[in-house]
Amino acid sequence: MSGIVLQGIRRSFGNTHAVKETDFTFPDGSVTCLLGPSGCGKTTLMRMIAGLERPSAGRILFDGCDVTAWPARRRDVAMVFQYPVMYRTLTVEQNIALALDNARVPRTERRTRIEAVIDVMQLGDCRRLGIDALDIGTRQRVAVARAIARDCAVILFDEPTTNIEMHAKLQLIRAFKQYRSRLRETITPQTVIYVTHDQTEAMTLADRIALMRDGAIAQCADPRTLYDRPDSEFGGWFIGNPGMNFLAGRADAPGRVAFDCLPVSLAAPGGEIDGLRLGVRPERVIVGPAGCGGVPGRVLRRTLTVGGQALLLLEVGQSTMRARMSAGTIFDPGEAVSVHCSPDHIVLFRNGSRLSMSSETIEAA
Ligand code: ATP
Repeated sequence: MSGIVLQGIRRSFGNTHAVKETDFTFPDGSVTCLLGPSGCGKTTLMRMIAGLERPSAGRILFDGCDVTAWPARRRDVAMVFQYPVMYRTLTVEQNIALALDNARVPRTERRTRIEAVIDVMQLGDCRRLGIDALDIGTRQRVAVARAIARDCAVILFDEPTTNIEMHAKLQLIRAFKQYRSRLRETITPQTVIYVTHDQTEAMTLADRIALMRDGAIAQCADPRTLYDRPDSEFGGWFIGNPGMNFLAGRADAPGRVAFDCLPVSLAAPGGEIDGLRLGVRPERVIVGPAGCGGVPGRVLRRTLTVGGQALLLLEVGQSTMRARMSAGTIFDPGEAVSVHCSPDHIVLFRNGSRLSMSSETIEAA
């Protein structure tokens, strides 16, 4: 299979444009997470690929073949939903076996596949239990096992961890990663599209993340690139917890722009100051004792976060910004500090879109 290609795909419901005109490719054998806030069109896009929703316009190609008019059952696609769909009177093993029967997998291959998915999804202890005896997290692992055992070319996941508690969620994510790394010899790598609004899940699982906003794919990149170099302020804000700090630029000398978190002004890209903002991630803001270079600041508030880290709210010139640091190096509210932002870790935006920074701009910082 040579991946899934969307050509000018669009879906409207009356005046609601759930998915605006989109051209996009999901490469063969890749894991792409569709990530974005509620209502941005993730599920609608996935349902069109599954054949559960008819596009208002555009074409969907599987392996170069136009499947736009094909019903779901013709598309060789497995789906895992928020609520696992299974036969409650059958055991775990029987549920997996039935999925293979329905997919007409040859008998000789069946046993190997069942054993492989039971092992990789860590279902050995409960293989002979009925579905009703399982908690929802384990049921979801059975649903994933059924989907991957079928050996379809494409698997679609629609927020499969939304309704399960944290421990079960981490277990499912671990099992998913094992499936990707270990089953390559038994089962051909499938093209996976995984819908989630949980950025940690997307960062952990995806080869690429397609970040959606208002019915469009705002950026598609590997998790590191999306995190470090978001194309838009939206990406900087949505990814990260909390997201990027944004500081407005102000005119300094002609053609130069100053930001409160930097000790020197920068050459403004194109000589234009209007609409310029600097973005920097809270974990890239270095805070030290007062008088240690950088720019002077003051701690307004300190919060401890999950994982024992401290989040400081800082006043720096006319701006406020957040810094994340290890709890061992804590400054108190009201304390004067020095604030450093390395030029390697700042991103410049104009009117919400990222600018490529010239070496001249970076050196000036
Ligand atoms: P969530 O994370 O909340 O599930 P989403 O990103 O998956 O959101 P969609 O469910 O695809 O978003 O919905 C996108 C937009 O299309 C929303 O405004 C939604 O209300 C609208 N929408 C989706 N399905 C229908 C429908 N069948 N009829 C009318 N409007 C719809």
